[in-house]
Amino acid sequence: MTPKEAKKRIEALRKELREANYKYYVLAQPEMSDYEFDRKLEELQKLEQAYPQFYDPNSPTQRVGGEPTTEFKTVKHKYPMLSLAKSYNIQDLKDWINRITKLVDEKFTYCVELKYDGVSLSNQYIDKKLVQSLTRGDGITGDDVTVNARTIRTLPLVIQADDVPYEVFARGETMISRKNFEKINEEQKEKGGITYMNARNLAAGTLKLLDPKIVAKRNLDFIAYFLLGENLPVNNQYDALKKLEEWGFFVPHDYIKAENIDEIMDFILDWGVKRFDFPYDTDGIVVKVNEFEVQEKLGFTAKSPRWAMAYKFPAERKLTKLLSVDFQVGRTGKVTPVANLEPVTLAGTVVKRATLHNEDNMKKLDLHEGDYVYVEKAGEVIPQVVSVEKSKRKPGAKPIQFIDHCPVCNTPLIKQGADYFCVNTTTCEPQIKAQIEHFVSRKAMHIDGLGPEIIKLLFKNGLIHNVADLYDLKISDLKDLEGLGDKSAQNIINSIQKSKQQGFEKVLYGLGIRHVGETAAKILAKHFKNIDNLMHASVADITSIKGIGEKIAESIQKYFSNPKNIALIDRLKQAGLQFQIKPETEKIVDKLHGKKIVISGTFEHFSRDELKQNIEQNGGHVVSSVSKNTDYLLAGEKPGPSKVSKAQSLNVPIISEADYLRMIE
Ligand code: AMP
Ligand code: ZN
Repeated sequence: MTPKEAKKRIEALRKELREANYKYYVLAQPEMSDYEFDRKLEELQKLEQAYPQFYDPNSPTQRVGGEPTTEFKTVKHKYPMLSLAKSYNIQDLKDWINRITKLVDEKFTYCVELKYDGVSLSNQYIDKKLVQSLTRGDGITGDDVTVNARTIRTLPLVIQADDVPYEVFARGETMISRKNFEKINEEQKEKGGITYMNARNLAAGTLKLLDPKIVAKRNLDFIAYFLLGENLPVNNQYDALKKLEEWGFFVPHDYIKAENIDEIMDFILDWGVKRFDFPYDTDGIVVKVNEFEVQEKLGFTAKSPRWAMAYKFPAERKLTKLLSVDFQVGRTGKVTPVANLEPVTLAGTVVKRATLHNEDNMKKLDLHEGDYVYVEKAGEVIPQVVSVEKSKRKPGAKPIQFIDHCPVCNTPLIKQGADYFCVNTTTCEPQIKAQIEHFVSRKAMHIDGLGPEIIKLLFKNGLIHNVADLYDLKISDLKDLEGLGDKSAQNIINSIQKSKQQGFEKVLYGLGIRHVGETAAKILAKHFKNIDNLMHASVADITSIKGIGEKIAESIQKYFSNPKNIALIDRLKQAGLQFQIKPETEKIVDKLHGKKIVISGTFEHFSRDELKQNIEQNGGHVVSSVSKNTDYLLAGEKPGPSKVSKAQSLNVPIISEADYLRMIE
């Protein structure tokens, strides 16, 4: 065979296999037998090996997955990947319709679709070929998971059509069918591997696996719902879905064009029932203004398009038996009642435990021993007990009381607001373990290798009683512990040493002062510059800072009024941790070198002037109107709609306050 003949054969095989793949996976109407498919694939593989000059990353042979990667690049989205506004009842949906109807003059229609509960993915095609697949990430930038996306059989690698613009983006949801989810979980269980909460978590985890060969075996699907780009051959969402279908994408036949709320309602009622038999998890519907022209007029808020609204299906509810109530002690000493239940399947997962929140809620429920209770799970929320079926209560059943002493260390509990606390923050075991877990976490001291199991082990062996003890650990303390060896002991010690470089704001966050989250820690560190200033600040000093409220201020005072905490901080200082901001973060930094930024709306952590100053201190420029030279539109609450739509039309990225804080971090 001459190279020319080989090339011809390779191309013919690719075409045939692509067709067969489409018919099998997207249409579910296979025409080629499995045997023939395998034989042709093998032939193609051999030819590609013999003629490496004809390598093509989008060849059907690449579906099995290429070489493992070590990490995913972060890439900026050409069009930001926004969230969707959500409504939980029909009235909210009607209100939205009324609102947008008033905003535009012309008549418009709706495209109504299912809301797939998976992981969104944006696929870029250049000259009809898949070149890049990005996860949503923070909406502005995402992870490049192209190597994994190529293994998704329902995602075309090459679009077979004549009317494809030079560059298009097909966005949609990466899913794992319910059947597949169950199968994979079964296999994981047999292997003793981790099992997944639901199909969405499995899909998310799979998309981030570093070995595409494993991804290929998981049978992900891609369901398309957005077509983006310039010079599209369609001018409305409904036709865009049809076009995606025509181009070989997988678009289940479950979308309609609607004229009014009644037609939308029909769709909701219909799918509220049908969704349980649908092969993929759905958690609602999405209503989109159909006409692109009207979409453009309506524009975007900082978080979501104004022209779309999700309606979430009501949570699924089941009746089950209450077996017992546990009281869990958290990191801050808060005691949470948790119901142990006879297992029930709820929204696709088996539920054995559900939160009871607090004493008031328990009283409201009026729980008795052996009660039958209704449990509910809404989307990502943890399951909760919502009511008791009193008709099933046994006569003489005893009411279940909240406890008054810590179930672990027996300290009398103290009530604060609606919650009870064990105030023994220094020796109550679950509190200490959770404090240490928090301290070593990525966002705090970022100490690798110290998972919950190892912390438990160190605690059990009396090696650590608080976070300061970590800095006294020696290799000899660790290496003989169960499951550790010389190497991992060395790694842990290295990681502990390295953590001494973590900035003051991370240390402050790591201390785990109640209500002092990541953002508050950052603001406090910046304002007070070192721990002594913060320690001696009054509540008034602290609350005078924008973004810091009374709750935080009081909690800080309380923390520093405890001599044990002061002693702990002294030991951490001795160990060499950072208790003041490094001089360079104080000086002018150049994170935003020369960037032109337009600001719009109101902000949580800055006044307008503070924000301007901050941008300039970081080397950026504030400009007043959006043009194609603008680098970012920084949109707070209620940004100006004209700025937002201008930014959108010029592809100027829109960033939120949180994004901004991250950029200047
Ligand atoms: P949420 O993540 O709850 O804010 O909801 C927004 C997400 O819904 C989007 O980012 C998409 O990943 C997802 N989604 C599911 N189905 C659709 C659909 N038909 N149209 C648009 N977005 C959808
Ligand atoms: Zn306790």
